[in-house]
Amino acid sequence: MSTSSLFQEDLINRYDRPGPRYRSYPPATEFHDLISESDYQEWARLSNEELIPRPLSLYFHIPFCSSICYYCASNREILRHKGKMESYLQDLFREIEIQSSLFDRDREVCQLHWGGGTPGFLTQRQSQQLMEKINQHFRLNRGGAGVYSIEIDPRVIEAGGVAQLRKLGFNSISIGVQDPNEKAPQAVNRVQRLEPTAKTINDARRHGFRSISVDLIYGLPQQSVADFAAILETIIDLGPDRIAIYNYAQLPHRFPPQRRIQAEQLPESGEKLAILQMAVDKLGAAGYEYFGMDHFARPDDELARARRDGSLRRNFQGYSTHAQCDSIGFGVSAISQVCDNFSQNAASLEDYHESLSQRRLPVTRGYQSDADDLLRREIIQGLLCHFRVDISAISNRWRINFANYFADELSRLAEMEQDGLVEVVGDEIIVNDAGRLLVRNICMVFDCYQQPGTSG
Ligand code: SF4
Repeated sequence: MSTSSLFQEDLINRYDRPGPRYRSYPPATEFHDLISESDYQEWARLSNEELIPRPLSLYFHIPFCSSICYYCASNREILRHKGKMESYLQDLFREIEIQSSLFDRDREVCQLHWGGGTPGFLTQRQSQQLMEKINQHFRLNRGGAGVYSIEIDPRVIEAGGVAQLRKLGFNSISIGVQDPNEKAPQAVNRVQRLEPTAKTINDARRHGFRSISVDLIYGLPQQSVADFAAILETIIDLGPDRIAIYNYAQLPHRFPPQRRIQAEQLPESGEKLAILQMAVDKLGAAGYEYFGMDHFARPDDELARARRDGSLRRNFQGYSTHAQCDSIGFGVSAISQVCDNFSQNAASLEDYHESLSQRRLPVTRGYQSDADDLLRREIIQGLLCHFRVDISAISNRWRINFANYFADELSRLAEMEQDGLVEVVGDEIIVNDAGRLLVRNICMVFDCYQQPGTSG
């Protein structure tokens, strides 16, 4: 899809407001503490009893970083001494033993992701131990059909680290990048030179990673259109398969490190829009396709192809070709999705360790989905991944009269239709080009936790 018709300044100005990123529906903000370990164990049992049990997706959260980037919204902490990583690994090993006892061993792991924090902070020996432990307890796909991905911070990866990750079975890498030259990095406490970033990307290509993605953030303090254009051109020259451009949201009440960012140094809304427009134009000119919320990819990339052939999905790892999985999250604050229900681990290292030392899963909150959640989840998936919803297919599958069930939603959608963001044509809701950068706002119409008058 061409990117030339995506950017409509007046519409983006009018509609853009913060909202969920829809890695789950309902969003994690709706999870509550009435979900316990026994609920999770029951969901795992039921998942094994499905006629054809789903494959598995495993997520490992490594929460440590060398320093705190002030814009960060992840659960992480500074690793002050190496013993802490060793002790965390022992907890992860215990969690792997307990979790694996709940799931039938023949269920294949078709998706694996290590995120953080900074998973590259594991030494090569620790990475090897963790992968061996996973391999002992789960059925990994060694044929290369699975997507095994890891987030890399080029500032901390050891020499030879990328080659070792490939040997361990990773085939996809994602790299957070900041402007290497200008003032903005100091204002957010993340100075990242170009050389390690370029070396990481080149090493990943040389060692046969099949997907390399780069994450950029715009709207950071002291960032200008010219600064962002320079870093984007540099990244495009390095040729990653995917580039994500995230809009920085200043939410210091939720993410305390953001209190160190001075609001008056943030670019004004006009400057931010100009950065976005420049980025959309440059990525389009370089041959990248917009395939979903904030994400651009080369046309031959796996996710760009999945969007075209209808197999793209969204889950806790973002966009994916493997969302039919049951997803198991390991580590502090990690989220699992089993039998369409959610559970989340303890957010503090102390609580996480305490549960596992008693050989209990550290489940502290979650959400049991009802039929309405599943119906809305399917509509939001359709909008996010394919920019369309098949009304008659949904009506038949869920045995509803769509027009009656979603009368309020359709009237709110009519306002967006007048503005050219969407069309309701025959039996389909279609997101027009002008609505694609605002697809999150269109999803919010069908999100019953985001209705006018609700917080969230
Ligand atoms: S942005 Fe990444 S490296 Fe920076 S503090 Fe957050 S998790 Fe750590």
